[in-house]
Amino acid sequence: MMPHILCPGCGHGIVLQALLRAVASLELDPDRVAVVAGIGCSSRLAGYVDFCTLHATHGRAPAFATGLKLARPELTVIVITGDGDGLAIGGNHLIHAARRNIDLLCLLFNNAVYGMTGGQVAPTTPQGSRATTAPRGNPEPPFDACRLMIAAGATFVARGLAYEPLTLQHLCMEGLRHPGFAFIDVLSDCPEFFGRYNRLGRGPEMLLSQKRRTTAVGPLLARKPALEGAQVATAPALPTGVLHRETRPEFTRLLLAQQGEGFP
Ligand code: SF4
Repeated sequence: MMPHILCPGCGHGIVLQALLRAVASLELDPDRVAVVAGIGCSSRLAGYVDFCTLHATHGRAPAFATGLKLARPELTVIVITGDGDGLAIGGNHLIHAARRNIDLLCLLFNNAVYGMTGGQVAPTTPQGSRATTAPRGNPEPPFDACRLMIAAGATFVARGLAYEPLTLQHLCMEGLRHPGFAFIDVLSDCPEFFGRYNRLGRGPEMLLSQKRRTTAVGPLLARKPALEGAQVATAPALPTGVLHRETRPEFTRLLLAQQGEGFP
């Protein structure tokens, strides 16, 4: 890790540490791990790690990662993106990576706002919350990133919290082991913009509020093939943990087999 430019109290550092601990726990060779990131405070994290790294254009990390995985299938490829980068500007690339079931781990740092560019409304900004582009409250309903990814075809979908770094580490380990497209919606926080504009306090207060807004999913629900819409709609809070898991042929292997080549 190098010195970073994150604001005091930002949740992103906690999330990165959970990911690094997951990579270390699985004893992955850093020279065979590639981190591909888009643009934003979360995506800046690719610059702080001693793996192979690619800082891609805004929203295009899944597209760059797809090309990299096809060219070097033996690498473990991790996509780091934010809610604005991955769900707005790059939403198209994200859903198609999920549909293909290409073997990537995608961590979406979800702080409900565009942080780096000054606190604009993002696709995950809750309805009614304030942002620089919505001083009277956001009139739009937010995306549920996990439901979107399940619908798009992701074969491993989970939600973790910066508030629970050890649980998040284990989710990252499961995602890294999963042979297909693994997606984790990570609730992080942005005290500098989202917290300040909505009077939610600084880092510690915002982390505590993550706990109040979420509920852990038990092993019974995690084994179900997919969360049913009604369960999500009537849940008292956002579900966390492994929300969906299925087995489906992985894209890189399918393509190599089609070309008569073996997996390295
Ligand atoms: S602007 Fe927000 S998301 Fe970006 S580093 Fe600062 S607190 Fe974190």
